[in-house]
Amino acid sequence: MHELGIVIQVVETIEKIFKEQNLTKVDKLVLEIGEASGVVPHYIEDVYPIAIEQSFLKDMKLEMIIIPAEGVCECGEIYNLMKYNGICPKCSSKKFSVTSGREFNIKEIVAY
Ligand SMILES: [Zn+2]
Repeated sequence: MHELGIVIQVVETIEKIFKEQNLTKVDKLVLEIGEASGVVPHYIEDVYPIAIEQSFLKDMKLEMIIIPAEGVCECGEIYNLMKYNGICPKCSSKKFSVTSGREFNIKEIVAY
């Protein structure tokens, strides 16, 4: 489980932004997590309180936006990779390129 390391990195990034912009209080963090990013939202939720409790961000709420993993098949069909297990629903090919869902971003920080 590498999610704790990821969340700690996110917290460090936010601390840096705080210093740069002279912010004092944060209300909410919005993360954008792609289904094909290798990051498991459920684990993020688990480790999140641990990662923030020692920091001044301990009251920060967490919101996650999940981006579906989509791929384009060699036949041109665009489909949800998770739903169809990476097998094209149109031609049954397993060859695809990922078009979305690899994202892992800090989408928004609500601060003042
Ligand atoms: Zn296909």
